[in-house]
Amino acid sequence: MSAEAGEGVTGRATPAPPHPLPLPVVDNHCHLDMGRDGDPPPDLARTLAQAAAVGVDRVVQIGCELEAAEWTARVVDEHPELLGGVALHPNEAPRLAAAGALDEGLTRIEALARHQRIRVVGETGLDYYRTGPEGRQAQLDSFRAHIEIAKRLDRTLQIHDRDAHDDVLAVLAEVGAPERTVMHCFSGDMDMAGECVRRGYHLSFAGTVTFKNARGLRNALSVVPLDRLLVETDAPYLTPSPHRGATNAPYLVPLTVRVMAGVLNVSVPTLCAALSENSERLYGPW
Ligand SMILES: [Zn+2]
Repeated sequence: MSAEAGEGVTGRATPAPPHPLPLPVVDNHCHLDMGRDGDPPPDLARTLAQAAAVGVDRVVQIGCELEAAEWTARVVDEHPELLGGVALHPNEAPRLAAAGALDEGLTRIEALARHQRIRVVGETGLDYYRTGPEGRQAQLDSFRAHIEIAKRLDRTLQIHDRDAHDDVLAVLAEVGAPERTVMHCFSGDMDMAGECVRRGYHLSFAGTVTFKNARGLRNALSVVPLDRLLVETDAPYLTPSPHRGATNAPYLVPLTVRVMAGVLNVSVPTLCAALSENSERLYGPW
């Protein structure tokens, strides 16, 4: 699908740009190949320019089904602000397995992950919210295979974990996590955050941490050391407060960063510097 497909046709409100950050940061996980709820995808160049204007000058684009992964491997060459990640999403793996196409899909993902600007294998993991018991074996097989790909190619692993905390941690312990592992859109509690930190993982927080009812998540954030933290949008979804329900995009990252700084009781510039450094350490230079 063309990345240039229309804007202004959706009728959805567009939040005003937040106040720019004092130092540049990275949106470490978003999906610029898709629009929200069937909307057309955003204009890529404009989206990246809007983000850079408020201090979000680098973005990790995640393509997590085959077509999106192919698209991701193309656009990372066209836009220096982008690095990429590729995978078969945990909810995509059972569909491919049912069609007898999972192995072939994994082979293609591994080939795309060799691209010099694809630095992430992900998002992969377990999702017990959208996939029922019948899809779990395929999900597990796919998760294990992605972990192996990340290790073979020395890529950073980004984990999707929805309602599957214990099993995600168990699989990572059993198979052996790659040296650089990120819990994307972290959704666990304080105990789980502590366990991830002990294991050497990084934790990436999305707009969910700004939601009024997310006290448990803010408590989890409060125990993560600065050198293990990342920020992301997971755009087009999970739009930070006060814009829940609007289409999310990388230019809204400052809203999440400011809430995180408040929870951590550090200055915004201190947090921005850490987020930027951590991203470059995990993904390499842009
Ligand atoms: Zn995602």
